[in-house]
Amino acid sequence: MNTQELWQKYEEKMFVISAYNYVLGVTGFDIDTISPVKSADYRNERMSYLYGELFSLETDPELIELLEELNKREDLEFEKKQAVKWQLRDLDSFRYIPKELHVEYSQLSMESNQVWKKAKETNDYKLFEPYLVKMIEMNKKLLHYSKTDLTGYDILLDRYEPGMNIQKYDEFFELIKEELVPLIKKITTKKQFDTSFVNLYYPKDEQRKLMRLILEYMNFDFEAGVLAETEHPFMSAINKNDVRVTTHYYENNLMSSIFSVIHEAGHATFNYQVRDDIAQTYCFNSMSSGMHESQSRLMENYIARTSSFWDNLFPKVKELFPQQLEGVDQKEFMEAVNVSQPSLIRTDADELTYPLHILIRYEIEKGLFDGSVDVFDLENVWNDKYEEYLGVRPQKASEGILQDVHWSGGSFGYFPTYALGSGYAAQFMEAMRKDLDVENCLKNNDFQAIKDWLKEHIHQYGGMYLPNEQIRIATGEDFNPKYYTDYLKKKYSKIYGI
Ligand code: ZN
Repeated sequence: MNTQELWQKYEEKMFVISAYNYVLGVTGFDIDTISPVKSADYRNERMSYLYGELFSLETDPELIELLEELNKREDLEFEKKQAVKWQLRDLDSFRYIPKELHVEYSQLSMESNQVWKKAKETNDYKLFEPYLVKMIEMNKKLLHYSKTDLTGYDILLDRYEPGMNIQKYDEFFELIKEELVPLIKKITTKKQFDTSFVNLYYPKDEQRKLMRLILEYMNFDFEAGVLAETEHPFMSAINKNDVRVTTHYYENNLMSSIFSVIHEAGHATFNYQVRDDIAQTYCFNSMSSGMHESQSRLMENYIARTSSFWDNLFPKVKELFPQQLEGVDQKEFMEAVNVSQPSLIRTDADELTYPLHILIRYEIEKGLFDGSVDVFDLENVWNDKYEEYLGVRPQKASEGILQDVHWSGGSFGYFPTYALGSGYAAQFMEAMRKDLDVENCLKNNDFQAIKDWLKEHIHQYGGMYLPNEQIRIATGEDFNPKYYTDYLKKKYSKIYGI
């Protein structure tokens, strides 16, 4: 068979896989948005079945043979070759897992996730603990079926962020600790801004209108995306022309939904702007977690927490909430947008203290996998670390160890990519500023220019390149976390007059 015929055969198989992924993707979105609670058992059984079928399709020996053959072909175009390469890489992480074990694990993950939800609601860590223990054990067990030279936690770190390992993350977080902890401590001694207006009453209907205005300002394509409501905001890229963003409205918090919508829109824009030919391949969604996160953080923090972003929008915010914002000017609004204060909840954390929330999780995960953290003492370990790094101690499990969904679904090794993504974004912004007067674009309602830059240098490629290759393509140099710590130090020293 010539290469083109091989590719065609491969594409036929991938079409069936995409059909399963489509249905499971839409169903997953349905679960988080409108599916009634009582449908859970019926649904989970059917979804487990579908996941099992999908697993069989993805690990079909014929498909793997096609991939391995295509991988050898010299005349396969570069874009396609990359797609084949990354698909084989990802397959290696699960193709050797026996199907029964795979199905058992997806069933356990769904159960564990449901128990976590209940435990969080009722503040009952003991309820979730046995499931967490099982999830950790199961993840350790599954590592044995991974075909790689890496071991233990490094396997997981590399899976979410190819090229990363304990040694590199240790260096990254060491820099964060050295550079940021002293600044955070200094800020706590400074007089805090009055941001009480943020917590007045902001009705949901008006907030919905505001989100629409913000997304329109960002040139969000409502014909290829939606904004829905969930308990926890997320983005789901069903395909290039179906990128779904969700948010949660808190009527006593003006900022929460604003910045989560902008964050998720950043994720959505990445998938939406993948080049058409690449979007048809595995590379549509093969980007690393850190790279994806860099695009959401870039929008949320580096673009939307600047005053220029609000030049056009702030008058509209005031129009929607005239009473709540009476006497508040744009300068005070920006102080509230950029306030920094150690807190307990990661998702509410400000830009400066955020990486410490991640550092805590990273240290705990590392300890769980090398055995230095006792899984039955996790709650104490968690609370002690918050006290050590942030000077605050959780009084309730829902504000402590139960706050995040990740571990309940088995996502160990994922957290560190959040901090890394913020680091990548700092470097991308530096590069963008060399080509573009970002402030002017924002003031002149030309958000498209920013999106076009991102498309040209990053988005169009999807996950075609490894993180460090992608960073070099966009910025001309290797990843350098100093951009990140310098940016934070400069920004927050100025805000707090240090
Ligand atoms: Zn994100």
